[in-house]
Amino acid sequence: MAGDELLRRDERDVRHWDETVDVLVVGFGCAGACAAIEAAEAGARVLVVDRSGGPGGTSINSGGFLYLGGGTALQKALGYEDSPQNMFDYMMAACGPDPDEALIAPYCEESAAHFDWVVARGVPYKESFFPGAHEPFHSDDGLVFSGSEHAHPFNQIARPVPRGHAPRTIRDKGALLMNKLIAAALGAGIETAYQSRCDALVQARDGSVLGCVLTTLDGERCVRALRGVILTAGGFIWNDAMLARYAPQLLKCQAKVGTETDDGLGIRLGLAVGGEAIRMEAGDVSLPLFPPNELRRGLFVDRHGQRFLNEDVYFGRAGETILYHQGAHAYLVVDDSCFLRPEHFPIQVAGVGETVEELERELGMPEGMLQHTVAYYNEHAARGEDPLFHKDAKWLAPLATPPYGAIDLRAEAFVYPAFTLGGLRIDPHGRVLTNASEPIPGLYAAGRTTSGVAKHGYSSGMSLGDGSFFGRRAGRHAAAGRG
Ligand SMILES: Cc1cc2nc3c(=O)[nH]c(=O)nc-3n(C[C@H](O)[C@H](O)[C@H](O)COP(=O)(O)OP(=O)(O)OC[C@H]3O[C@@H](n4cnc5c(N)ncnc54)[C@H](O)[C@@H]3O)c2cc1C
Repeated sequence: MAGDELLRRDERDVRHWDETVDVLVVGFGCAGACAAIEAAEAGARVLVVDRSGGPGGTSINSGGFLYLGGGTALQKALGYEDSPQNMFDYMMAACGPDPDEALIAPYCEESAAHFDWVVARGVPYKESFFPGAHEPFHSDDGLVFSGSEHAHPFNQIARPVPRGHAPRTIRDKGALLMNKLIAAALGAGIETAYQSRCDALVQARDGSVLGCVLTTLDGERCVRALRGVILTAGGFIWNDAMLARYAPQLLKCQAKVGTETDDGLGIRLGLAVGGEAIRMEAGDVSLPLFPPNELRRGLFVDRHGQRFLNEDVYFGRAGETILYHQGAHAYLVVDDSCFLRPEHFPIQVAGVGETVEELERELGMPEGMLQHTVAYYNEHAARGEDPLFHKDAKWLAPLATPPYGAIDLRAEAFVYPAFTLGGLRIDPHGRVLTNASEPIPGLYAAGRTTSGVAKHGYSSGMSLGDGSFFGRRAGRHAAAGRG
């Protein structure tokens, strides 16, 4: 972007270091808190800076879910049998195409231990399972299905088990998670500086990152980080210029999931010193139609009246498919027996008809297409089958009760909440990689500043999940001075 050369300072341009620490963490959200805790507990002197007036970032306003499995204590307590391999099989199928095996493998292998670590930092979880779809908005249940594990084709690839781990509170789950992590970080002896924005990385001639230039209320401060700088500064959903350049589809989404500090500065800092950014087009795009689950008995159709997806997938998978693969133009066709208004978001109705033919005409679809789609679906649904997309039999029933309607899922009519998933490429230690796959000495990153485990195919909890997990790894590696 214009002016990005200013995000890198040569070491010769720094006359004086105002402060020297071992590890400097840029951003005090979930990834930053976990990085700071690990680095401090490993004995490093850690400074966490944040441009906001306090800690928390987007993480503190979040749903607080962590996508964890492989046999966590909570899964076991509730009788769910998971294994690292089972979790790996799901994630390799869901987080694609081209899933990041190098990150997914350790994430699955150490996921259960990571949950123990989070619990040990005081985050409480109730030993109860939430039976509803995806998000326990009004419950303090601890475990929930937060992806497409039980939907085709994933239920053929891995044993479906719930992996959404939610802190024990009805409201403000993200705040509970973050307040515990922030307290743990402060308890580990970190130092903090707020209203301090990292505006440049200082780089030595050999390419290693030496520290940061901060803009503070008292002016510019240069901080030397002897063992590493860790960028945990969030994503870029609040930067329209970056969206236009890298992820234009996300500009169609009417709700930005994040805070204004998700302006991509962390990613641009990494790029300025030679880091590579990958999957910059990727985003989590929700389709918050459910609950009510009755709507899953409807049919997703494209502009031509053809189905393209089983309607029982995770709402993030549905949103992503509509936005990226259907040009943000789709409808949910329902009949009177399955239509209920969504509980959490308003909808617009694109058309209504006493017959499918009438509805088809009203939607401007080619003659006969929607009629064929519904007739074919009904014929098989009556036998409890969905040969095209294998929707679970419990959602299968012919659409045969007029009137028929189409919920408008076009981006101009439906509010798709979205955040970015692309970012700096890291290795499993959280080291930022160049496009030659070489780590940049002294530079780490985690959370939405990076491209994490979900390059695509997000499931709820994977953002806080990978941010906390690789934040910890970055903190440990940096503190050991191996960067
Ligand atoms: C309503 C809502 C619900 C969500 N629910 C979930 C959920 O249940 N599970 C899940 O996994 N994800 C969820 N998400 C997404 C998730 O919250 C974010 O993707 C995640 O919090 C990102 O964490 P992070 O640590 O990378 O960044 P953040 O938490 O945003 O922290 C980044 C910090 O960096 C600071 N910063 C930025 N630039 C600089 C700079 N140059 N210098 C200094 N400081 C800087 C910012 O001020 C901020 O404090 C939800 C999001 C929202 C909004």
